Amino acid sequence: MMHIVLFGPPGAGKGTQAGLLKERLRFAYIATGDLFRQHMKEQTELGRLAQTYIDRGDLVPDEVTIEMLKNEVNKFSGAPGIIFDGFPRTTVQAEALEKMLGENGEKINLVLALEVPEDVLIQRILNRGKTSGRSDDTDRKTIIKRLKKYKEVTEPLKDYYRKKEVLHVIDGLQDIEAVHRDILQALEKTVGR
Ligand code: ADP
Repeated sequence: MMHIVLFGPPGAGKGTQAGLLKERLRFAYIATGDLFRQHMKEQTELGRLAQTYIDRGDLVPDEVTIEMLKNEVNKFSGAPGIIFDGFPRTTVQAEALEKMLGENGEKINLVLALEVPEDVLIQRILNRGKTSGRSDDTDRKTIIKRLKKYKEVTEPLKDYYRKKEVLHVIDGLQDIEAVHRDILQALEKTVGR
């Protein structure tokens, strides 16, 4: 089984690329942000909890995020692979994922890190907010806080995965097709290893 992490700041294009990739690979797809939004819509206990953090531009606590992720991963034991979008976002989450996969002799095979300058990210998220119905996408202050959190607690994971020799940096400023091509190239290299 192959495990791919789509990594990058909010607005980098992870969801868009995941859509293209999963169509091609027929992999299972797990996006923690989507899962939280589904819970929020259904007003589950987890949804109500997550909302208080998401509306403030904070990360949802590791414990509940990891628990939700584990449940989801267990649903896809028969899939050829899994694409993770928006997870891990902290070192604690990365370590939990590693441990969980390791128990089945599996690991993260490839981390695709999309890089986009901050001013472009803010613009992209504000644009998305016009149609996404996501309240965390319309308020500039919330967006800036999310980007700050990314820099502080998520971006350091690049080093974590670089040391494991699975990190592949991708220029996310290119158009959608070009980014997709770069991703496929990185994938071929990984499969060929
Ligand atoms: P974006 O990439 O624009 O931040 P997401 O849909 O990935 O959008 O996430 C939306 C929100 O959900 C995040 O701002 C955060 O509050 C919460 N969230 C998503 N994934 C995680 C995670 N792995 N750990 C903690 N919080 C998360």
